Amino acid sequence: MPPKPFANAPGDHAALRPSGPSPEGATQVCILGGGFGGLYCALALHQRLGKASRLRITLVEPRDRFNFTPLLYELLTHELAPWEIAPAYRDLLRHTAVDLRQDWAEHIDLAQQTVILRHGEPITYDYLVVALGSQMRPPATPGSQTHTLPFNTLQDAEQLERRLGELDHLPKVRVVVAGAGPSGVELACKLSDRLSSRGHVTIVDRRGEILRSYPERVQRAAARALAKRGVEVYLNAAITAVEDSGLTFRYEDKTRHCQAELMLWTVGTVPRSWLGKNDLKQTAFGQCQVEPTLQLPNHNNVFVLGDMAAMPAPKRDRAPTTAQAAYQAGPAVAQNVLALIANRPLKPFVYNHLGDMLTLGQGEAVVCGFGLCITGQLGGLSRRWAYWLRLPTHTHRWRVLKHWLGFKP
Ligand SMILES: Cc1cc2nc3c(=O)[nH]c(=O)nc-3n(C[C@H](O)[C@H](O)[C@H](O)COP(=O)(O)OP(=O)(O)OC[C@H]3O[C@@H](n4cnc5c(N)ncnc54)[C@H](O)[C@@H]3O)c2cc1C
Repeated sequence: MPPKPFANAPGDHAALRPSGPSPEGATQVCILGGGFGGLYCALALHQRLGKASRLRITLVEPRDRFNFTPLLYELLTHELAPWEIAPAYRDLLRHTAVDLRQDWAEHIDLAQQTVILRHGEPITYDYLVVALGSQMRPPATPGSQTHTLPFNTLQDAEQLERRLGELDHLPKVRVVVAGAGPSGVELACKLSDRLSSRGHVTIVDRRGEILRSYPERVQRAAARALAKRGVEVYLNAAITAVEDSGLTFRYEDKTRHCQAELMLWTVGTVPRSWLGKNDLKQTAFGQCQVEPTLQLPNHNNVFVLGDMAAMPAPKRDRAPTTAQAAYQAGPAVAQNVLALIANRPLKPFVYNHLGDMLTLGQGEAVVCGFGLCITGQLGGLSRRWAYWLRLPTHTHRWRVLKHWLGFKP
């Protein structure tokens, strides 16, 4: 089925902006996943077209709240409130032309241009945007799933908060974090600050360095932050088993057991699989191969972006699987969907690496970019403002700003 042609649309978005509600037979854009790629694509489409558009935008997302993942750690030190970093979709999408379907997409039928949902009616689309993100790497270490906590979503942060509450009565709390990537390092620093002198935090990683894919100066700043907090770091250490009482790992040819009351698993994620017959081209990492315009090869009306897609990037193999990349791709896809509808040429997506930011404890961070590297409290402030600018919608940003300035939100 070819995409529905858009009457009188060539070259201009004005044809998409008649007054009044969307009539039946309106062009359907369906977006799967309301994360950094999907939500920001939906908001960009709305922003370009306004509310009274003949384009019907449907966002399918099972959660009720958007998760601004880079700021999740701030919940552990109570520096930010859940509503600030996880605003409800119904608030973000109020007064927009985006129709939210709180549901799971289960199957994409490319031939029929239909998405099957777990609970609701199927959606027939003219244009499809797929941004389902990543999921935890399937656990290969015995006991890891039962005895450790993940840290990927607001729910995970809430679960960790409950666990910390249960440990409140203990004079000492031993924490082990599996994985020395960004999540492991950021969690270790925040938990160290949260638990203060009651806490003893250990990181274990099978690789030989922390923050493997980060520039050296970020690694150095992180190493200093971990050392300052007395976090013990075991590198080249392969975890062999996880039990209720702690975890076992091989280190310098010896088997060691690290006792812990709290264990966190941050050993990486994998892209979510395509929802349907999988004859699509994929990379070894499991991402969909996409055209430079982020279209699916041979399916011009389907776009894939964010963690799920091997998005092009200058001087790199592909764009990193980060919020930064998905956040840039969302509006770029919105622009290309509109260009396709209006018969205009599409633009290739150009990922622009703006730098690296990591929180390194309460109020502290490292921010590196454009030849500069700021650390400590100043780094913390810079990171906070950089993320504030990227929070979704003016209304939400304004609410958060008022709160930070001491007014009632
Ligand atoms: C704790 C944590 C901290 C992070 N910190 C940073 C950071 O500091 N900087 C940075 O750049 N990146 C960071 N990231 C990575 C960043 O979150 C991801 O790269 C980014 O969210 C990817 O965007 P996306 O749109 O591809 O996927 P996501 O933002 O993950 O969105 C995917 C959405 O799809 C929904 N979904 C999943 N399956 C279905 C389905 N079947 N049907 C419908 N919807 C579905 C999910 O609920 C989710 O809302 C962090 C990640 C985590 C977990």
